[in-house]
Amino acid sequence: MNFTLTKDQLHWQSAAHKFAQEVVAPIARKMDEECTMPISIIEKMASLGFLGGSVSKDFGGTGMDSLSLVLTYIELGRACSSVRGFMTVHSSLVMKCIEQSGSQEQKKEFLPRLASAGLIGCYALTEPEAGSDAASIKTRAEKTNGGYILNGEKIWITNANLAHLAIVFAKLPATEGAKPHSSITAFLVDTNSEGFIRTKMPGKELGHRASDHAHITFKNCFVPEGRVLGGENNGFKVAMSALDHGRLGVAAGALGVHQACLDTCVDFVRARKQFGSRIGDFEMVQAVIAEMKTSLEASRLLVYNAAWKKDQGENCTLETSMAKLHATEAAVEAANEAVLLHGGRGYSNKYPVERYLRDIKGLQIYEGTSHIQKIVIARQVIGK
Ligand SMILES: Cc1cc2nc3c(=O)[nH]c(=O)nc-3n(C[C@H](O)[C@H](O)[C@H](O)COP(=O)(O)OP(=O)(O)OC[C@H]3O[C@@H](n4cnc5c(N)ncnc54)[C@H](O)[C@@H]3O)c2cc1C
Repeated sequence: MNFTLTKDQLHWQSAAHKFAQEVVAPIARKMDEECTMPISIIEKMASLGFLGGSVSKDFGGTGMDSLSLVLTYIELGRACSSVRGFMTVHSSLVMKCIEQSGSQEQKKEFLPRLASAGLIGCYALTEPEAGSDAASIKTRAEKTNGGYILNGEKIWITNANLAHLAIVFAKLPATEGAKPHSSITAFLVDTNSEGFIRTKMPGKELGHRASDHAHITFKNCFVPEGRVLGGENNGFKVAMSALDHGRLGVAAGALGVHQACLDTCVDFVRARKQFGSRIGDFEMVQAVIAEMKTSLEASRLLVYNAAWKKDQGENCTLETSMAKLHATEAAVEAANEAVLLHGGRGYSNKYPVERYLRDIKGLQIYEGTSHIQKIVIARQVIGK
């Protein structure tokens, strides 16, 4: 491993830092309060080449390597988890999934428009009765003249009220004795199709307030034949390989939140005085900062290592799950401590640490909870 950043990687890191600090960070609190993200943020990420980062130049992308993409996510995550979350779903889950599993026609049709934000994408796997156990989804696909009819329900789908294109996972009638995951198929669904009904996800209060999340109902929603992604009954493989890309984005986003916690705390403990000293001179406070910094650098090595392995073309499921598990757990701990270090001010939205704490909880849950990452890691280490 060589983590000396190349000229290209430094370019993406610095472009993302500038955008995140000059454009996103100044409005992060307002977006959180107003529960919305201006479309101009998405358009700017497209024009700067971030949205197309996950796919090759042949399909209108900017062809970043995995470490460059990770550096971009870290910088966005430092400023706002909702913005970083938008891009992880759009670019790493949706675009990368189409590049990896799509036909040439599908890649040509969708990727350039997704890279330019002409289309917005979402990834619809989770259902009310199927979250961690994704193989047990109940959404049904039935073959009909010229295509398929979808019926079912999805919840918590990020970007779905904005999206033009949804990757939807549904089950074809199973052959007798088949395993639950073997009849899952991925479909590229036009969100304006009749029978694609989306509403705002109710009751989302804790974090990611500027993100868009939807509840989707499919009522006899027709999908044309050419819109199967990766072949009939291959959907579980498509879903899991997309998650390998998405989880690395989430891990990098967590690293960004962790970095933001540290930066904010360092400024605060240098400035805040109690008992006649700056609080940063108290050993208990120093211990918190030391642990926050050490766990941050441990997360960074895991995240960079997973990205490096991906760039070698090797399977990196183990490294990605370890990076997601450690980076999200460490960032939750950092955000928790950051609120405490700010005292009463930490409880107020005049300081960003309460938002960091609310937002980071989501990263522990989506794209596989920390428990599920442990299962993935243990299976890779022990064997099934
Ligand atoms: C902000 C946000 C955005 C999201 N965006 C998307 C999206 O874009 N697309 C999408 O498809 N989904 C999305 N999700 C859904 C998310 O992926 C699921 O919530 C997650 O996978 C957990 O599923 P669940 O909520 O059904 O919880 P459950 O699976 O019911 O889990 C409940 C608890 O049981 C634990 N558990 C379950 N099984 C096991 C086991 N075998 N061993 C040990 N513990 C276990 C879990 O870790 C968890 O603690 C999003 C969720 C959130 C909160």
